[in-house]
Amino acid sequence: MGEPILLTTWAFGQAANAVAWPGLLAGGDGLDAVEAVCRHVELDEAVESVGLGGLPDAEGQVTLDGCVMRGPARCGSVCSMSFCPHPVSVARRVMEESAHVMLAGPGADAFSAAQGFEAGVVLSEWARARWAEWRARLPSPFPPTAPSTLGGPSGPPVGDARPAYNPANVSSPASDAARSHDTVAVLALDAAGNLSGGCSTSGMAWKLPGRVGDSPLIGHGLYVHPAHGAAAATGKGELVMGLCSSFDAVERMRSGASPREALGGALGRIREEHDLAADDQVAMIALSPHGEWAGAALRPDYRSALRTTTRDEVVPPDPVLCA
Ligand code: ASP
Repeated sequence: MGEPILLTTWAFGQAANAVAWPGLLAGGDGLDAVEAVCRHVELDEAVESVGLGGLPDAEGQVTLDGCVMRGPARCGSVCSMSFCPHPVSVARRVMEESAHVMLAGPGADAFSAAQGFEAGVVLSEWARARWAEWRARLPSPFPPTAPSTLGGPSGPPVGDARPAYNPANVSSPASDAARSHDTVAVLALDAAGNLSGGCSTSGMAWKLPGRVGDSPLIGHGLYVHPAHGAAAATGKGELVMGLCSSFDAVERMRSGASPREALGGALGRIREEHDLAADDQVAMIALSPHGEWAGAALRPDYRSALRTTTRDEVVPPDPVLCA
């Protein structure tokens, strides 16, 4: 039996690790630990980008994304769901009980109900109030969408000359500089030597309805290969999604890179390929099947939460690519 490890994004991960640690230390399966970490954060109303505390989209609707992975043939994912605040558990059920890898929107909600999940509140009062404040500050009202009878996309009412809402044009607390936390992503190595990963998010605050980020996309927000390593991302999904950054990091580990080198390489590609804004942030974590780990970021305002048999710490990123 080996030594277990839990590595979670952001400082809030430390309290979540504490919930999952006893089971993992006692020889429990890493996937149970990953799910327990995410579920803890999903119910923490103080975390404004995950589960119940998650900030909604531009129309005030919370949509949740999450995934779990054990290996290329064992992964599950949901996106744009709002049935209950636990996308990580529904994603696990997709992996274990369906013939599919990913379910979206109403289908994910229907699957949740069919699987016996309890319907639950996903928009906290606090998040709803933040949305109302944000909406009241918009320079021009978000045009109400016109119901379409044609089955095509709906749009602003005919004759409404106001500009369409564009999240790039309004100041938003979704900017990482204004946020203290982000998606929960967690990697675990259990005593039996299995790597597992999971993540859960409400995505970008005030996003366009229908927007899905990197987090529920296998290979983008999370990738696990039992023999080569595991990696996960948090931050602005649009920077990750063109580069399959979690898959990229694991591929680098497969070629012999350490987790630290792999994350430096994957984040370096993000820096190369994007014209980064000053507050654009992506952070990543990586874990090898031998228990080597790393947490790295584009910017220094990121922390990982590490739990091992000898450590229970919040650790700064290394390397930081845009210090
Ligand atoms: N990566 C997530 C997304 O883009 C956001 C986050 O990490 O909070 O949806």
